[in-house]
Amino acid sequence: MIYDFEKGHVEKYFRDINVKKRDVDSVFKVIQDVDFTKNLDMGKAVLDSKGAYVIDENGERQAVYFYKSPYWFYHKNHNGIQYPKFHILECETIRSYSGFRASNTKTVSVRNANRYEGDRVYELELKLCGNCRKLANNYYETTAEFYDALEQQHNARKVRRPDIKVDLDGYTLDWSIISKRYRKEMKFSCERCSIKLSTDRKFLHVHHKNHDKLDNRPSNLECLCVLCHKHSDAVHEHNFMQGKMKKQLDQFLKKHYDRLENCSNPYVTLYNKQK
Ligand SMILES: [Zn+2]
Ligand SMILES: [Zn+2]
Ligand SMILES: [Zn+2]
Repeated sequence: MIYDFEKGHVEKYFRDINVKKRDVDSVFKVIQDVDFTKNLDMGKAVLDSKGAYVIDENGERQAVYFYKSPYWFYHKNHNGIQYPKFHILECETIRSYSGFRASNTKTVSVRNANRYEGDRVYELELKLCGNCRKLANNYYETTAEFYDALEQQHNARKVRRPDIKVDLDGYTLDWSIISKRYRKEMKFSCERCSIKLSTDRKFLHVHHKNHDKLDNRPSNLECLCVLCHKHSDAVHEHNFMQGKMKKQLDQFLKKHYDRLENCSNPYVTLYNKQK
């Protein structure tokens, strides 16, 4: 995840140098329509290979996307109207233009640069720039998805109680026992498509419905096969598009494609059968 710099080796590094974790409530702030180009020039924003950030008044990095406003919605080279895209990395576009705004809200206001054409201000949910998509390891397709992911992570952190010990991935130390026990209770079957995986248990995940990895109440758990887990929401879909999650999904499909079809898994037809 490009937006989660609190997990994994960064967290370990801070622990090693004895820096206490930040107050969770100070982590996510809504940033709306700030002058990104100017902030970059003044050192109050960061743009690197991991993402774009604005430094807030507490000196915290806030994850943002950036976009061009004002923007030419109509242009003699366009066939009809064209909407601006949002950017998350130092792509070709930002190297060729200036005057970018930054936000992390669901929608943004963009001014029409040509005052003789159409409405003056558009309130838009932007789509991701194609160049940024090619450069990114992980991304969200729309500004609304970008915001939802930030909010979801923030909420998951907010309910975290400081007295609970967690591993570097954010799971409680007894998670492996809980997850094993829960899969057994569910008779090693996916709770959505019912595929039975008692002889291939690694393809069975235990999912936290409210995304809070500390909330291990049975009502918050769901035993899911890799494929149903991927399609449980948009954030998961992105997480399974790369790295070891994607690798596991590919293995699962390769090995169990026919069985997934037999139990009418609703997602299996989205994928081609591999030989
Ligand atoms: Zn871009
Ligand atoms: Zn399933
Ligand atoms: Zn999950």
